[in-house]
Amino acid sequence: MKVLVLNSGSSSIKYQLFDMRDESVLAAGSIEQIGEPGSHLSHRVRTPKGEMAKTVRTLAISDHRQGFQLISSVLRETGALADTGELKGIGHRVVHGGEKFKEPARVTPEVLTAIRALIPLAPLHNPANLLGMEVAMESAPAVPQVAVFDTAFHQSIPPHAYHYAIPKKLYETHQIRRYGFHGTSHRYVAKKAAEFLDKPLESLNLISLHLGNGASAAAIQQGKCIDTSMGLTPLEGLIMGTRCGDLDPAIIFYLARETGLSSEEIESILNKESGLKGICGVNDMRTVGEMAQAGDPEAQLAIDMYCYRIKKYIGAYHAALGGLDGLIFTGGIGENANFIRAGCCQGLAHLGLEMDTGKNRGPREGCSAIESGASRVKILVIPTNEELEIAEQTMACLEADESRSTLCLRQQ
Ligand code: AMP
Repeated sequence: MKVLVLNSGSSSIKYQLFDMRDESVLAAGSIEQIGEPGSHLSHRVRTPKGEMAKTVRTLAISDHRQGFQLISSVLRETGALADTGELKGIGHRVVHGGEKFKEPARVTPEVLTAIRALIPLAPLHNPANLLGMEVAMESAPAVPQVAVFDTAFHQSIPPHAYHYAIPKKLYETHQIRRYGFHGTSHRYVAKKAAEFLDKPLESLNLISLHLGNGASAAAIQQGKCIDTSMGLTPLEGLIMGTRCGDLDPAIIFYLARETGLSSEEIESILNKESGLKGICGVNDMRTVGEMAQAGDPEAQLAIDMYCYRIKKYIGAYHAALGGLDGLIFTGGIGENANFIRAGCCQGLAHLGLEMDTGKNRGPREGCSAIESGASRVKILVIPTNEELEIAEQTMACLEADESRSTLCLRQQ
């Protein structure tokens, strides 16, 4: 029972093929620089010994259609998938589902039209995601396809948390509200936390911190998201690699007035030149950590600001949740940067969060708990796996569809 997960960007397609009987990865890879001179395929396939063997091929890949065909043929040649007919389904990552998609959706012409209508909310991502779905549907028409939305997990956020305090008309006519992103990751790690703690997710209050190059926090009450730090776009909230996160909106008008920069130029500064990069010149947390260790004051400031912003969100979400059972760290930084985890939890004993320094620094594999014996709140490091979550949601959506059609047939 195999499921292929596709994540289509404007010039790339990332893929993972799962055997859903044991959720193992059979093959994975990416096609990069589609339509450019350096286009190439990087493919890893599981060998009979269980290791992943890697191949890289540089070849001309002119468009996504050719890219998908190449993925199908490399999966066939390496023995991972004899034919697309072997697939139970294809799951597609879709960045923006607006208010329409609260759950994954079986891809139909109507669903494609609805995703297209959301392009103004995600002009960089939704067109590329749509292209991936269209190409896969054309190339493998018999395989059911499912769209899994980054925003869907946050659709349970109540109105008092998703509205901005701006004229209501702007929400009604332009859909301006908090949507939130990284929902697939927040949902996955919340489920894993419940498994790890051996408690029903519905009984837990959690704060999930997805700290990667992009970063967001989510407040999860009894399994449902009630607030998240990203907003209409992924620019709001925590400090990120190159994004500023929360900002006084008047800064934008002040900048325009004082410098004459256009709104596009300011948007680019806030998205691509800010965050860690804006503060200390580099956006990679490993390098920021090394620079701070070597005594660079700007890198130290970047770390202090990064952790302080997260602490403010922990405090706010602790209040919103009315108590906390677990704090989850995930993403490249959350999973690997012990100095960031330490900085985020420092001084939070009054909220019941006390870290064990040794456990925080120690080696880890899979989920691990790093709180001290005195801590009232569990502090967890949980590796995220957005592709597996998409594969699981694809299966769940297709199985729900199947049981609905069986029920319809029985009722006829
Ligand atoms: P992601 O977007 O989830 O792949 O995360 C990327 C971020 O994780 C980058 O800022 C990396 O520098 C950071 N990262 C990955 N490994 C480490 C590590 N061992 N220590 C500190 N930061 C890390």
